[in-house]
Amino acid sequence: MENRIPVLMYHRVGEANSSWERKYCVHPSQFLSHMLMLKKAGWHAIELDDFFAWLKGLLVLESRSFLLTFDDGYSGVHQYAAPILSELGWPATVFLVSKLIGQRDNWCHGENPSGNTYPLMDWNSIRDLKKKGFTFQSHTRTHPDLSTLSDGELEAELSGARVDLSNSLDSEVEYLAYPYGRYDERVLKATVSAGYKAAFSVQPGFNRQFTDLFRIRRLDVFGTDSATSLKIKMALGTNDGSFGKLLRYGLDRILDRVRNP
Ligand SMILES: [Zn+2]
Repeated sequence: MENRIPVLMYHRVGEANSSWERKYCVHPSQFLSHMLMLKKAGWHAIELDDFFAWLKGLLVLESRSFLLTFDDGYSGVHQYAAPILSELGWPATVFLVSKLIGQRDNWCHGENPSGNTYPLMDWNSIRDLKKKGFTFQSHTRTHPDLSTLSDGELEAELSGARVDLSNSLDSEVEYLAYPYGRYDERVLKATVSAGYKAAFSVQPGFNRQFTDLFRIRRLDVFGTDSATSLKIKMALGTNDGSFGKLLRYGLDRILDRVRNP
C-alpha cells in the first residue's frame, strides 16, 4: 500500500536546439531510458482517476505507483512518447491549451532566446492517443499567467477551456494544470468555481492523501535528467536529482538517527 505518490511532469519530447530548450525538452532516447529505469525499479504509471480517488482516500494503491503528466500537448508526445508508453501499457495525462490545438507553443516565443516555437498536437493525434489510454485535461485556453488576469479573463480561460475541450473530446474535463505553475488564492477560487475537481502545481514533493486537491505537487523532469537523477528525484521527492542531494539526504538521516536515537 502506497502512502505517498509522485507525479512526474514532462513537457516536450524531441530534439532540443539550445541549452535553454534542453531544460523542458527530453530527447526520445532519454525518455525511453527514464521509462525503462522506472519499470526496472518496480514503478508503474496509474490512471488519473485512480490517483484522484486515492487522494480522497477512496482507493488503495500499490507501492511504487506514480502519475505521468505532460504539459502543453506537444506533437512529440504523440510521436515519441506514446509508442514507448503503449509498449509498457502505461497511461498518461496531457494538459492541453484549448485554443492552440494543432498550432505552436506561441507563449514560448518571447521566452526562448532563439525565438523557436514547436508544434502542438492536432485533434487527430489527440483522438488517436485517447483510444490508446491517454487522458486529456486543461492547461487553459491560451497559456497565460493566471495570476495576472482580470476576473473576467480568468473565468474565460478556466471555464472556456473546460467547455472547449469537453465538447471536442466528448468527455468531461475536470483537472487543470496551472500554466507556469502560477496561481494565488484568487486563481484557486476561480478554478473551483469553474468546476474543476483538482489542479496541478509545479511545487515539488510527494503527494499524500487528503492534501489540498488544488495544490497537487509534481516533480519536474528536465531534459538534462539522466535515468539515475530521475531515480533520485523519485526516491527523495525533489527536483534536485544530483548525487550531492542524495548524499546530503543520506547524511541528514544518519545525523537524525544520531541526534534522536
Ligand atoms: Zn505549460
